[in-house]
Amino acid sequence: MLTSLVVDAIHEANIADGKRSKAFDTMFRHSDAGKCARQLGFAALGYEETEPMDLAGVWGTWLGRTIHEEWQKCLLETYPDAEVEVKVRFDDTTSGHLDALITTPEGVKICYELKTMGSFGFDKATGLMRKTWSRKAPEGPRLTAIIQGSLNALASGADVLVIGVIGLEAMSKGYADKVGASELDRIMAEWHYSREEFEPIALSELDRLAEIKGWLDAETLPPRWGIDDSGRQVEFDPENTQFPCGYCSHKSLCRYAGAGPIPLPIPGLKEWIKEDA
Ligand code: SF4
Repeated sequence: MLTSLVVDAIHEANIADGKRSKAFDTMFRHSDAGKCARQLGFAALGYEETEPMDLAGVWGTWLGRTIHEEWQKCLLETYPDAEVEVKVRFDDTTSGHLDALITTPEGVKICYELKTMGSFGFDKATGLMRKTWSRKAPEGPRLTAIIQGSLNALASGADVLVIGVIGLEAMSKGYADKVGASELDRIMAEWHYSREEFEPIALSELDRLAEIKGWLDAETLPPRWGIDDSGRQVEFDPENTQFPCGYCSHKSLCRYAGAGPIPLPIPGLKEWIKEDA
């Protein structure tokens, strides 16, 4: 197949580069914010992914990275004093690279995060209903993006968190005309959060990470416990094909390990890996 040449090349390059290292030597990464406790446990313990990213994921991630790099170039041309890919941390617990830090002439420090999305995520965030050419109330960025941004904003001492969203599929012109969407609305949106809004979100995630660290320090794989889109605590089921289990990088391993907290090392794992191979 000729069309796959570019995605195959990106995939090969990703394998050669390996996983991006953490900003600092911490147990967790800000980019994993909001994920299930069990999945964070697997990542912190260094278990190999049983479901590595597929080609569709590789493609979406490359598009996102390329857009980030172009956006950061434009930011620095427009605001030469801005900083990009700033490393931030909370002690040895968690760290990340934030997309940009910009300080306005009035001294307001802005932590900026950019997210690219396919049409499903973009429509949810911005309230588009493409089938009927109508609109509902926007849901805003995914909770995981807000938690990640909140951690970055708090760690960098920002006053404001801005999350920008760029959709990979534009609204049609006819649809945009019908609902009165502007040229930019067709492809992007932006949300601003004050410190009063983002600080409690970051602190609550830090509490959750401390709890997960407690399981790991006690040499126990955490249960399948996480938060849903509205921040409610839920128990996940790896038999579910929906988000997050349907897209989990350790789904088979989680299924094998079983529900509930599991003493480490996972019993019988070596034999299971041999059988699976
Ligand atoms: S499969 Fe689901 S429950 Fe298991 S680690 Fe992944 S997200 Fe968590």
